[in-house]
Amino acid sequence: MDLYEYQAKDLFAAHGVPVLPGDVATNPEDAKAIAAKFGQAVVVKAQVKTGGRGKAGGVKLASTAEETEEKAKAILGLDIKGHIVHRVLVTPASDIAEEYYFSFLLDRANRTFLAMASVEGGMDIEEVAATKPEALAKIAIDAIQGVDAAKAEEIADAANFPAEVKDQVVDVIVKLWETFVAEDATLVEVNPLVRDPQDKIVALDGKVTLDENADFRHPAHAELVDKAAENPLEAKAKEKGLNYVKLDGEVGIIGNGAGLVMSTLDVVAYAGEQYGVKPANFLDIGGGASAEVMANGLDVILGDEAVRSVFVNVFGGITACDAVANGIVKALEILGDSATKPLVVRLDGNNVEEGRAILAEANHPLVTVVDTMDNAAAKAAELAAAGV
Ligand code: GDP
Ligand code: MN
Repeated sequence: MDLYEYQAKDLFAAHGVPVLPGDVATNPEDAKAIAAKFGQAVVVKAQVKTGGRGKAGGVKLASTAEETEEKAKAILGLDIKGHIVHRVLVTPASDIAEEYYFSFLLDRANRTFLAMASVEGGMDIEEVAATKPEALAKIAIDAIQGVDAAKAEEIADAANFPAEVKDQVVDVIVKLWETFVAEDATLVEVNPLVRDPQDKIVALDGKVTLDENADFRHPAHAELVDKAAENPLEAKAKEKGLNYVKLDGEVGIIGNGAGLVMSTLDVVAYAGEQYGVKPANFLDIGGGASAEVMANGLDVILGDEAVRSVFVNVFGGITACDAVANGIVKALEILGDSATKPLVVRLDGNNVEEGRAILAEANHPLVTVVDTMDNAAAKAAELAAAGV
């Protein structure tokens, strides 16, 4: 889960990383009131989960409360790379002497964590990385050893942080690592980390991605979820404990096991090319596919208006095909009239004959049983195209 800047900076503050105070407003009047409270020049910053807000006109200085209202009016409602601004952060403006870059991230390719630091921070670190790679220090972090003061100093030296601020930067690096570990983040980024004219170091921007797999350790993270911005189908699936990701196509997909579901997406995408349709979602109902789980899964998928057909692709393993077939039949009973779209079912594995017999006997008008995965994908794509 990506956080908004103000949430990221709240986490930084909780772990002792220096940030400026700030408040969030959803309308220009509130922004004005916050600026009046600070009684000084402020920066009005669009809160959207994408970078490059500065360049897109989403970060503006305002010297008075009235001006803050105007700037907030201009920023609220902006479309920044497809993200509409519903909130602005109002924070005291700071004088900037230098802008640095710092991040910790999960380096999947090298199976490690990585620190990246540069004294050429500010807007475009991607450009620095592309045109002046020597200006971006990259230091691998051992997961067991982590980052102590000595490691932080190694990073600060590799990036050539100036001597006058090095101690502060080292302290910030250690605290950002503490944030990264304690919050189970996969990304913690500060751009810019600024040096002010008095040589004080402050994190002026913050980007944090939290690892949702660790949510069970962090009940407090639930409050960071932006309910209004969540996809309603994904929210419903999450509530029911389903592993569901909404995609843009027309063929609903249910399978058991993430690997099988991913290959199902590939097969449907391939078969769908001919018909101009694509997979509508990822949904893994896991090993023990009970009737209730199947019904919940179908319910979520049928709630997607774009869906024209559903492909149920199950490999009977621990839960054998007859149990899955019973699950499908009961799920259709549970859903009753709300099941309206054709289902293509492909069963294989344990007790496949019994499973197919159960579906044949039920003879549900919406269900077509197809023997192979490729043929089932083609059938589901064809039905989806016919239903558009
Ligand atoms: P981003 O463009 O989405 O990364 O948004 P940032 O928060 O990084 O802001 C973009 C740029 O605006 C920064 O690199 C700064 O140059 C500038 N900026 C942000 N806050 C302040 C501030 O308080 N004072 C001044 N003078 N400039 C700021
Ligand atoms: Mn930034």
